[in-house]
Amino acid sequence: MITNQELANLIFPDVKETIEDLEKRYPKRNLPEGAEVTRFAPSPTGFLHTGSLFTAMICQKVAKQSGGVFYVRLEDTDTKREISGSGEQLLSQLKLFNVIPNEGYLASHEVGDYGPYCQSKRADIYKVAIKKLLEDGRAYPCFCTQEELDEIRAKQEAMKLIPGYYGHFARDRFLNNDERAERIKAGKPYVIRFRSEGNHIHKIKVHDLVHGDFEIAQNDQDIVIFKSDGLPTYHFAHAVDDHFMRTTTVIRGEEWIASLPIHVELFEALGFEAPKYAHLPVIMKLDAETGNKRKLSKRKDSEAAVSFFLEDGYPGEALIVYLMTIANSNFEEWLFENGYRNIDEFRFSFDKMSLEGALFDINKLQFFAKEILAIKTKDEMYELAREYALKYDEKLLKLIDRDPNYFKAIMNIEREKENPRKDYYKFGGLADSIAFFYQDEYEKMEMEPFNEKFSHEQIKEILTHLKELSLDQDESSWFAQMKEIGLTLKFAPNGKLLKKEPENYIGSIGDVAEMLRITLTTKKNSPNLYYVMLVLGIEECHRRMDKVISKL
Ligand code: GLU
Repeated sequence: MITNQELANLIFPDVKETIEDLEKRYPKRNLPEGAEVTRFAPSPTGFLHTGSLFTAMICQKVAKQSGGVFYVRLEDTDTKREISGSGEQLLSQLKLFNVIPNEGYLASHEVGDYGPYCQSKRADIYKVAIKKLLEDGRAYPCFCTQEELDEIRAKQEAMKLIPGYYGHFARDRFLNNDERAERIKAGKPYVIRFRSEGNHIHKIKVHDLVHGDFEIAQNDQDIVIFKSDGLPTYHFAHAVDDHFMRTTTVIRGEEWIASLPIHVELFEALGFEAPKYAHLPVIMKLDAETGNKRKLSKRKDSEAAVSFFLEDGYPGEALIVYLMTIANSNFEEWLFENGYRNIDEFRFSFDKMSLEGALFDINKLQFFAKEILAIKTKDEMYELAREYALKYDEKLLKLIDRDPNYFKAIMNIEREKENPRKDYYKFGGLADSIAFFYQDEYEKMEMEPFNEKFSHEQIKEILTHLKELSLDQDESSWFAQMKEIGLTLKFAPNGKLLKKEPENYIGSIGDVAEMLRITLTTKKNSPNLYYVMLVLGIEECHRRMDKVISKL
């Protein structure tokens, strides 16, 4: 009977390299003690998921804070599910959130000594490892057809047994090498399966940086490791790549915990030391229909795709800050003490990660976005808004480019001060909210109605008097002047007084300001009116007031 070695040579006659050769080609990394090598390993099958950004952010953080390496590996072995161009897109989206790998697949090129970083280009490496498993009798060719596999499954279902290719159900593990060789020579199609030595009635102990120590049923499935298209499956590629790319900590979603027993056995069979694992909790959402917690869903939830935030113009930093509050329970307090400018200095730790999936809370994201945009300078706002507008908002781009300084003046309203105003949390919709600053746009806008309590005559009279308001004074004397004007027309200088002596007044200063605000901006809510007037200029303000007076 032919030996394992001969069978391995029959299957891979061209593979001459050995595991030892690969060990030499991809030596241990020369990094200081404690430096972590992490990887983000997306499959190019679609958009960047918010959960994937969460993972990538943590991978980068762990590597950076330990002086290690963060790399990207493109897991493109499932050619049927691949969406062309999505690898490049994933990388460019990560960049918008400042998640920038030091090494690996970088879309246009690759950087690093541990490549290739696209799995589809690593077939030669996988073959070396599979050949070794064949030689060791830990892998074998399986000739089962899909129909035969379906039959096995149907039998298992009928007997209420765990489904899969294991134990005595693993039909082709019982072939001898001669039978195998004969079928291969006859041209029968086959895949290569791992030969498990486990039994699911036994438990193994595993350690996870997030979940701690736990027990889990041993693997007993003879999983496919090498498909008929010449590429490996995820499990096998994970073991080989994370070993030879010298990953120290595998950080990935919790959905992979169930596969951990397979990975533990693969690492053992290959003679590799397994990396540390950190399985991250998934981001959840309250289902609007059922009221139950569920995973953010690609199909149902727009916020599951990172592109949703980009298209709506949320600042990338805000999403990162928000995700970090999900990642570490102490981050918010840290932020409160240290501010938003230096979040790189925050030390992330797996211990402070909650095991329960956090609920995605868009209001909280908006809160952080407001805080972050409030501390930008007018020039930074200009850059961010323009960058957004270039990609997503033609109307905004046109407004900005008409006069960049004018746009900056708008953005600068109550900005460069100790407690800047928090008017904006995203750039989506900005064009509409600032349109009134532009004369032609203002002309096209419909005004919100004035308070019906006042007659048109009263409003006209007030506006006519408000034309006396001078902008050659600071905000408080401007406001005092507005109060004086109001008082002469029987508007109380504050709401309290109006309440106390309703017989003496027809309204309050709040009503006066509202009339002016609607006249100048078309809206009941706007940035600080004094500064709005300064930006518009007194002439334009008078023009708008005259127009309203003449139309009422
Ligand atoms: N390609 C896998 C995925 O996209 C990667 C999982 C891992 O990080 O190991 O889910």
